[in-house]
Parts: sequence; structure tokens; C-alpha cells
Amino acid sequence: MRHKTSVLIVNSRERESKVRQVPTHIIMNWRKYAMLTTLLVAALFLIAGFLIYQNTSRFYREKLERANYIRSRIDLKKALAAFASIDSGMYRINSFLEERGLERLKMKNMGGTGAGFDIIYINEFTDFYKGQLLELEKALNSVPIGAPYGGKITSRYGYRLNPFTRKNTEFHSGIDFRGRVGDSVQCTGSGTVAFAGNKEGFGQCVIIQHNPNLQTLYGHLRQIHVKKGEQVGSRQTVGLLGNTGRSTGPHLHYEIIVKGEKINPEKYLNFDTKNSYD
Ligand SMILES: [Zn+2]
Repeated sequence: MRHKTSVLIVNSRERESKVRQVPTHIIMNWRKYAMLTTLLVAALFLIAGFLIYQNTSRFYREKLERANYIRSRIDLKKALAAFASIDSGMYRINSFLEERGLERLKMKNMGGTGAGFDIIYINEFTDFYKGQLLELEKALNSVPIGAPYGGKITSRYGYRLNPFTRKNTEFHSGIDFRGRVGDSVQCTGSGTVAFAGNKEGFGQCVIIQHNPNLQTLYGHLRQIHVKKGEQVGSRQTVGLLGNTGRSTGPHLHYEIIVKGEKINPEKYLNFDTKNSYD
């Protein structure tokens, strides 16, 4: 049997005091127990501190390793060269647009090359080019490219012998494609229908407005498939090939009009190899 000492707990508020049995050796060695408890608490704190330190240092070490890995994987010179090449590509496309009556895209300077580039700006760079490419795509979609019909070119832009009289010369303001009545005629770029109906000389005729400065015209149609004000996509059928108006046989008369002036459409047909010139 262990020795126990009775401790009288006196509470000033309560009338009755309590008596508790406490092992005698605790009373005798209270300093030792207090010291032990303090040491235990201190040890717990140390362990907890060590664990926290270890975890956070591992977290930062991993972050640093990842950052170094990214730096080692990205060739800054190569990235710069790529951006420079995208820049010159955009410049070429812009020149292409300008030549064809479209406005250049407003390109703001991304802030020089070489020393100024830091990998931390990579997101700004990619966002910039993403935006610019979307603008280019939109602009290019509205450029009339290719041929409206796959038939053989029978008459080109410029002065020619009057096909009716075969005597005097006249100015031909577009390109003629020979074809079959009823074949579909497609617009060469997206835009809005500016005119759809009968036009003197052109017969059944459609005019597409691609941008404020640029129009295409499709003449001598047999049938019109679009209405004024309608939005059309590139390569959409605007009507059927015919022989209406001032025409000597079934063909499509195609014009490109830049700022009100009828220009030679051949530059715009370059991408289409289906057409033969004779
Ligand atoms: Zn013609």
C-alpha cells in the first residue's frame, strides 16, 4: 500500500471544504514533478517546431527546385528569336493586308528585344500575341482571297476589244470566268451584302462589303441567294452562275472594288491554282 496524504481544499466561497487523498510522494517531491512537466512541455514544443521547420523548408526547397528547373528548360535566346520571328511574320501579314486595301493592325511595341526580356513577362508576351493573332484572323477572314468560281478565265481586267462589236476597245473592270448556268458562285470573303438585285449591264448582281474600303461584285447571275444586309461567311454561295445583263454567254463577272475604285482582282486570286490563264 502506498502512502497517501489527505489534502484539505478550502474554498473561501463554499462553506464545506473538500478533502482529497494525494499520494504522499507527490507532495514530498513536487519540485521534481514540476521540473519533469516543464521539460516535457519544452520537448513537445521543440518537436513541433522541428516538424514545422522541416515541412516549410521542404516546401520552399521544392519551389526553388521547380523554378530552377523551369529556367533550365527555357532557352531565353530561343524564346526571343521566336518572338522576333512572330513579329516579322505579323509585319509581313500586315503588309499583305495593306496592299489589299485593309488597314494595318495597330501593333504596339512590346518593349524592344534582348536585354529587356525577362521570363517573368512570358504571360504578357503570350497574351499580346494571342490578341494580335485573333485580330489578324478576323481581318484575314474578310479579305477576298481565291476565286469565286472554278471556271476558266476568259477575260481579264483592263482594255479589251468590245466583245459585241469586235471593233472598238473598252475597259473591262473585272475578271470573267466561263461556266455552266446554275453552278454555284461563292463569295471570296466574309462580309455584309451591300447590294442584291438587278444592276444595269451586270444583270442579276450581288455586291459584298468586306470592310469600309473593300467590296466584291458578282455579275450576270441567274439567281441570287442572299438578301441586302445579310451577313455572309467566306465561300458562302451568293447565287447561281448565269447569263443575265450585258453578256455574250454564261459566265461570272467578278470585281474587287477598293475605296470605290475597281482594281485588278488577279492579285487576290493568287492562292487559287485551279484557275488557268490563257
Ligand atoms: Zn466581265
